[in-house]
Amino acid sequence: MNIDTLATSYSIELPDWIADELADVPDALGSYEERMRLVHRLAARNFREGSGGPFAAIVVESATGKIVSVGVNVVLKSGVSSAHAEVTALGLAQTRIGSWDLGGEGQPAHELVVNWRPCVQCYGATLWSGVRTLVVAGDGPELEEITTFDEGPMRDDWAPQFEARGIAVVQDVTRDEALAVFRDYREHVDAGGAVVYNARAAE
Ligand SMILES: [Zn+2]
Repeated sequence: MNIDTLATSYSIELPDWIADELADVPDALGSYEERMRLVHRLAARNFREGSGGPFAAIVVESATGKIVSVGVNVVLKSGVSSAHAEVTALGLAQTRIGSWDLGGEGQPAHELVVNWRPCVQCYGATLWSGVRTLVVAGDGPELEEITTFDEGPMRDDWAPQFEARGIAVVQDVTRDEALAVFRDYREHVDAGGAVVYNARAAE
């Protein structure tokens, strides 16, 4: 086997439009609501730009709200199925601090802010990331009902599982605004504007 026949790296990059969207955003966002409103803005633009689904996430330092990374779902742009918003934001935060552990020695407490409860993949990615807090706009069947995305076989006790590993969970931060973005996305899909990518269904 010649290594030249194989890919030896892949990248998950933020789309160019993110720079415009961040231009008027302060370096730190004080409240959960301010943090989540940035996430909603990024999610709402992400699908219209064709980068991926209506999902965004940011990593901030919990105490100050200093933005450490922003992520959006770039599955369509990158051609990588795991490039969900949480995976993108966590990986960029870890790249920025130079460590796989956002909760490592000497690190301030980090927080992941995302516009719905993570899918089964991002549940694991969040558990292993070192964040100390997960902030979600909402949880429940509405995401799958509205968007038709398959979130995978999530455990009902996902929040207690996080808590048992020292990750605090904050829920229902501007939930209605998350649902409004998902409804806009659904209209966009129904009008032929986007592809819903999913796990393969059973034959
Ligand atoms: Zn995910």
